[in-house]
Amino acid sequence: MSRRPDDLMLRAAHFIAGTYVEDTPQLDVIAPSDGRVLTRIPVASAAMVDRAVAAARAALGTSGWAGLTPRDRTRALHRWADLIEAEADTLAHLEAVCSSRPVSHAATGDVVVTAEQIRFFAEFADKEGGDLVPTGAGSLGFIASEPYGVIGAIAPWNFPISMAGWKMAPALAAGNAVVLKPSEMTPFSALYMAELSVRAGIPAGLVNVVLGDGVTTGPAITGHPGIDKVSFTGSTRAGAAIMEHVARTGIKPMTLELGGKSPMVVFDDADLDLTADCLERGILPNAGQFCVAGSRIIVQRGIADALAERLAARFAVHRPAATWADQPGFCPIISETQLARIDGIVQAAVAEGARLVTGGARFDHPGSFYRPTLIRDVTAASPAVTQEIFGPVATFQTFDTEDEAMELAAHPTYGLCAGLFTRDLSRALRLTRRLQAGTVWVNRYGRSRDHILPTGGWKASGLGKDLGREAYTANRRTKSVLIDI
Ligand code: NAD
Repeated sequence: MSRRPDDLMLRAAHFIAGTYVEDTPQLDVIAPSDGRVLTRIPVASAAMVDRAVAAARAALGTSGWAGLTPRDRTRALHRWADLIEAEADTLAHLEAVCSSRPVSHAATGDVVVTAEQIRFFAEFADKEGGDLVPTGAGSLGFIASEPYGVIGAIAPWNFPISMAGWKMAPALAAGNAVVLKPSEMTPFSALYMAELSVRAGIPAGLVNVVLGDGVTTGPAITGHPGIDKVSFTGSTRAGAAIMEHVARTGIKPMTLELGGKSPMVVFDDADLDLTADCLERGILPNAGQFCVAGSRIIVQRGIADALAERLAARFAVHRPAATWADQPGFCPIISETQLARIDGIVQAAVAEGARLVTGGARFDHPGSFYRPTLIRDVTAASPAVTQEIFGPVATFQTFDTEDEAMELAAHPTYGLCAGLFTRDLSRALRLTRRLQAGTVWVNRYGRSRDHILPTGGWKASGLGKDLGREAYTANRRTKSVLIDI
């Protein structure tokens, strides 16, 4: 039975050195499902961030985390994953209350997969090392691998548990401490994950969570001299601001997972039912608020009408529900501001001559809910096609030849993912090479539980990878050692 927002204990404090630290409440946290103000959270000042970084440094020193037998780190992380699973219900409620995630999806999906990913990274700790390299006979050369120290992590609101896991798990497995700032809109689940890390026996101070915004707290993390590496997931706009800020305040390495505007290229030999399933799954979960959303459907002319019809029928059946409802429904848009932005882009496209196949308006329901929307006859220059909408809105463009399809698929700036639908194996192999994206899915759409596959964008969609071996090695740096014998 799902718990209502009023039944939840919402912590609105930072979590530093293993304890909650109260601070002046400044920002409202709003439930997008019905618009209620849940609580007010503090905005960590530079001094508070300093305190968290100092706690992280101290914990690294006293716990010897980086120098532990790697198996000991693995064991502690496994215990953390176990506790996260055991607390799935509470975590899911803390997630659902302020975000777009339905409680049952969070409990059976996000929490379970996050625990799995923590275990995945835990297992790298005693398996990934350095290299002995060939040198002249008179010397011994090796490349040592060491943790950075303190990772400054900043996460978005769209999958708060998953994003906190993606940032913290590889960092801790690789021997680092973390100062994490969750989104100011969705702070509660990450705080509880940090509390669980201490209960699991991960030394207090290795996981610190500071609450705050992107104006004061975010830059205080990215510019802090005690932060050795920045790991950011969020918009391309904020990613660019972080690059600039880091460049001005002292160079440090960074991983940036940014926005996308991914194409779904459908050829006329594709299995139409399977493709319609994938297209729907590529844009409607979480009301389209996911970075890899396949928001640009690019379809071969002969099947365009049939596919649009199928999709419109699928789009029309969704009904909204509060994220804490017993039966999950269509997800809310995170805020009224974001809903107005989505609607503005849709209405501008229609005013330019695009055809609304379905949707194009908010649901007649309390809370911030927008109808699944499909738009045809959009021009390549329309903001509906060029901008990341981050809502349940897909555009439909048609092509005749493979070259035309590739031209439409290539976004001038983004390159996060691409979907390709065809039964022709040669074409699939040929085009996976031409698609400009960090991930290409063929005859499917969306991540699997193969956590070994790294995820990350090309071009303005990001730098570096989350998940996979890459995410572990990205949390360590190499040292070349040459010893004359
Ligand atoms: P956002 O960029 O507005 O905020 C993300 C986080 O960065 C928040 O915690 C925010 O407080 C902080 N922030 C904002 N400006 C900052 C600054 N100048 N310095 C430091 N921190 C700053 O993004 P959002 O609206 O929370 O999330 C949606 C975006 O995230 C979308 O663009 C989506 O594509 C992207 N995203 C990408 C991935 C990926 O793996 N590539 C995954 C999830 C979300």
